[in-house]
Amino acid sequence: MPRPLSATIHLDSMQHNLSRARSCAPHAKIWAVVKANAYGHGLERAMRGFALADGLALIELEYAVRLREGGWIKPVLLLEGIFDASDVPLLAEHNINSTVHCIEQIKMLEYTQLYRPIDVHLKMNTGMNRLGFQPGDYAAAFKRLRAIPGIRNITHMTHFANADELEHPRLTIAEQVRRFQHGVQGLAGERSLSNSGGVLHQADLGDALSNDWVRPGVMLYGGTPGGRSALDYGLRPTMTLRSEIIGIQELVAGDTVGYGSRFEASGPMTVGVVACGYADGYPRHAPHGTPVVVDGVRTTLVGRVSMDMMTVDLTPIRNARVGSKVTLWGDGLPIDEVAQAAGTIGYELMCALAGRVRVQEG
Ligand code: PLP
Repeated sequence: MPRPLSATIHLDSMQHNLSRARSCAPHAKIWAVVKANAYGHGLERAMRGFALADGLALIELEYAVRLREGGWIKPVLLLEGIFDASDVPLLAEHNINSTVHCIEQIKMLEYTQLYRPIDVHLKMNTGMNRLGFQPGDYAAAFKRLRAIPGIRNITHMTHFANADELEHPRLTIAEQVRRFQHGVQGLAGERSLSNSGGVLHQADLGDALSNDWVRPGVMLYGGTPGGRSALDYGLRPTMTLRSEIIGIQELVAGDTVGYGSRFEASGPMTVGVVACGYADGYPRHAPHGTPVVVDGVRTTLVGRVSMDMMTVDLTPIRNARVGSKVTLWGDGLPIDEVAQAAGTIGYELMCALAGRVRVQEG
């Protein structure tokens, strides 16, 4: 028998969340973001779950090639572009749309003859200060790119820093949109601005946020970029991490649990040992109180998460036994809630799912 720990990927929920994104941004084409092995869900599953997307966007060139080899014929976008001129022929060979965010990437495209035309996304830095040309340098970058033989469509792109918060005190979506519009003034081409936060706020921002393409990631996996719960947006979890109780200890007042003896029982209590630890991707820093569901009932983590196991309070669970079913996140326990308790974000939990966890579809 394998260890009782598995992640179930819900392809129907992936389809559902994609259709939610469509209804939020009905006039835009959708790049489903599938970087980091589709946020931990598996690239091949993402191809099926997001079969109705208009394109798939990711970071890793080798995975982009894998999408083509796996039969994905719709557009593919590299969100950070290429890192070396030797990658340019692969873009042409596999018809991969590449982001261009710096002058070095323009030079790579200038120096390498394209034997087949390619499309690119030109990225503007509108305040995130990660990748992209400043609005004032953008038109010059566009013209230089436009002059390269073999460059076909150039899509204008930027990325939001605070799309989860409409009224962010430092940098709002509206301000980033304003800078973007200023930078692209008079330049032909489609536009792509919104990540999940932008898509979810599309209705609030209306015409100001005109996207030809949107790039949702986390919302397609049933998470939100922050703020409200995914359930409020009608999103469904796409990954459920489940395990079982593999041991039970009865404690009396003063007994402690686990490494560091960080948790001390204040009275008689029952503790269950769950077959899941930080080597499976569960956050080691999750504190006492992080929610867990045992046999359909909510309870909490107690003590320190160790490499292969964690301990939970079974006192509120009637008839708990070795073999009781445990949900660590997903169906019945939103991943964002677990992440918040652990001081992280749902994105990190999904992406950190370890290779040793059995993954199934259902
Ligand atoms: N677009 C770009 C350029 C990104 O880097 C990301 C992810 O960080 C996304 C879109 C998707 O973001 P989210 O998962 O918040 O929707």
